[in-house]
Amino acid sequence: MISLGLVGYPLTHSLSPLIHKAALNYCGEKGNYALFPVHLDDIHALKALLDRVRDGSIAGLNVTIPHKQRVTLLLDELARPAQAVGAANTIFMRNGKLTGENTDIHGFLADLRKLLAAEPDRHAIIKNALVLGAGGAARAITYALLNDGWKVAVAARRPEQARALIAQFPDHSLDLTRIDYDADAFRAVVPGLSLVVNATPAGMSPDIEKSPWPKGVSLPRLAVVYDLVYTPRVTKLAADARLAGLGAFNGIGMLVEQAAMSFSIWTGFEVPREILFAALEEK
Ligand code: NAP
Repeated sequence: MISLGLVGYPLTHSLSPLIHKAALNYCGEKGNYALFPVHLDDIHALKALLDRVRDGSIAGLNVTIPHKQRVTLLLDELARPAQAVGAANTIFMRNGKLTGENTDIHGFLADLRKLLAAEPDRHAIIKNALVLGAGGAARAITYALLNDGWKVAVAARRPEQARALIAQFPDHSLDLTRIDYDADAFRAVVPGLSLVVNATPAGMSPDIEKSPWPKGVSLPRLAVVYDLVYTPRVTKLAADARLAGLGAFNGIGMLVEQAAMSFSIWTGFEVPREILFAALEEK
């Protein structure tokens, strides 16, 4: 019996149980994936859950908002990517140590590579990306892109948040810049962009009329738009991008890829992605 789960708050709309239960079924393993709603200020409950991973009663734990950063302080060891971005979303025991990994990084990159490979006309010869937002997800995306040879500009409505993100990656100072979150700054970088990533919740249900893209600015002509938001499946930004003839994708692929990597860390099983996508089809 494999006991897995997710800690965070709120968890009511999480799709992770569907994905991991499908993965367990596919592998013929008995197990469960439980939701552990734990408030930001309930450090005792978070520690108690981590102790259950330590003693083996939970084999693997996913971590989501609001605990991804603070959980890193409660672990024995961090895998390099988790250490680099200062956040972990996957917890497990390795060599007797409570260990954290960040599978969002791999999940995003795996999905992006697959999508770009399927878009040969738009395939980024020039790897120039604009990341919108500077929160936890933007940090993971920026790290993933920098390590894949991209130049990255970050735009956040609070410049100090973008500066803090940039300060986290001092080894990449030549490839990582900040731009203001306004129409003029966007217009200046648009011509050179081959990828736009929305790492803000703008456009997420129920605010589906919102777009993180400034009004009156044309989207880059030959770029791919990757929206981390997946509720709705086609956001306003993605719809606008498609209307302008761009390739536009949602964050479902990243969700599936990060889950598949977590599941593989915990169980050793690689699950075909179509099994996991199928589990989400009716949602
Ligand atoms: P976060 O840490 O709260 O950061 C959100 C960022 O977006 C902040 O920079 C925030 O700026 C900015 N922002 C919020 N509303 C905005 C708006 N209307 N216009 C411009 N900027 C805005 O959240 P996160 O964990 O990074 O998550 C960001 C999004 O990615 C969420 O929608 C989340 O569901 C999604 N996500 C998807 C996946 C996936 O697997 N597909 C994985 C992780 C995250 P302020 O601080 O100024 O508000």
